[in-house]
Amino acid sequence: MAKFQEVEVKVFREHAHCDCGKGELLPTGSMLMSDPPTFQHRCASCGHAEQFPDRYPRIITRTVQ
Ligand SMILES: [Zn+2]
Repeated sequence: MAKFQEVEVKVFREHAHCDCGKGELLPTGSMLMSDPPTFQHRCASCGHAEQFPDRYPRIITRTVQ
Protein backbone atom coordinates (compact mmCIF):
# COMPACT_ATOMS: atom_id res chain seq x y z
CA MET A 1 0.00 0.00 0.00
CA ALA A 2 1.22 3.49 -0.82
CA LYS A 3 2.39 5.76 1.96
CA PHE A 4 1.17 9.35 2.03
CA GLN A 5 3.38 12.08 3.41
CA GLU A 6 2.78 15.77 4.10
CA VAL A 7 5.59 18.10 3.05
CA GLU A 8 5.77 21.80 3.86
CA VAL A 9 6.16 23.97 0.76
CA LYS A 10 6.51 27.63 -0.05
CA VAL A 11 4.17 29.12 -2.63
CA PHE A 12 5.41 31.64 -5.21
CA ARG A 13 3.72 33.52 -8.01
CA GLU A 14 5.93 33.85 -11.07
CA HIS A 15 5.33 36.82 -13.37
CA ALA A 16 6.58 37.22 -16.95
CA HIS A 17 8.07 40.66 -17.50
CA CYS A 18 8.44 42.08 -20.99
CA ASP A 19 11.86 42.99 -22.44
CA CYS A 20 10.70 46.62 -22.69
CA GLY A 21 10.99 46.75 -18.88
CA LYS A 22 7.68 48.57 -18.50
CA GLY A 23 5.01 45.93 -18.81
CA GLU A 24 3.99 42.47 -17.77
CA LEU A 25 3.18 39.75 -20.31
CA LEU A 26 -0.39 38.64 -19.63
CA PRO A 27 -2.51 35.95 -21.34
CA THR A 28 -4.64 37.18 -24.23
CA GLY A 29 -6.89 34.12 -23.97
CA SER A 30 -5.79 32.70 -27.31
CA MET A 31 -4.05 29.35 -27.41
CA LEU A 32 -1.89 27.87 -30.15
CA MET A 33 -2.56 24.18 -30.76
CA SER A 34 1.10 23.29 -31.23
CA ASP A 35 2.82 20.37 -29.49
CA PRO A 36 2.93 21.27 -26.64
CA PRO A 37 0.13 23.86 -26.83
CA THR A 38 1.21 27.41 -26.04
CA PHE A 39 -0.60 30.42 -24.65
CA GLN A 40 -0.30 33.83 -26.21
CA HIS A 41 0.73 36.67 -23.91
CA ARG A 42 0.85 40.34 -24.64
CA CYS A 43 2.59 43.27 -22.96
CA ALA A 44 0.11 45.89 -21.76
CA SER A 45 2.73 48.62 -22.28
CA CYS A 46 4.37 48.00 -25.71
CA GLY A 47 2.06 45.38 -27.24
CA HIS A 48 4.83 42.81 -27.74
CA ALA A 49 3.39 39.27 -28.03
CA GLU A 50 5.02 36.02 -26.93
CA GLN A 51 4.01 32.35 -26.69
CA PHE A 52 4.64 30.33 -23.54
CA PRO A 53 3.78 26.71 -22.66
CA ASP A 54 2.34 27.98 -19.36
CA ARG A 55 0.03 30.81 -18.46
CA TYR A 56 1.65 33.65 -16.50
CA PRO A 57 1.48 34.70 -13.76
CA ARG A 58 1.71 31.08 -12.61
CA ILE A 59 1.77 29.56 -9.14
CA ILE A 60 4.77 27.43 -8.25
CA THR A 61 5.61 25.60 -5.06
CA ARG A 62 9.05 24.84 -3.67
CA THR A 63 9.90 22.43 -0.91
CA VAL A 64 10.98 24.09 2.34
CA GLN A 65 14.52 22.94 3.21
ZN1 LIG B 1 6.62 45.49 -23.36
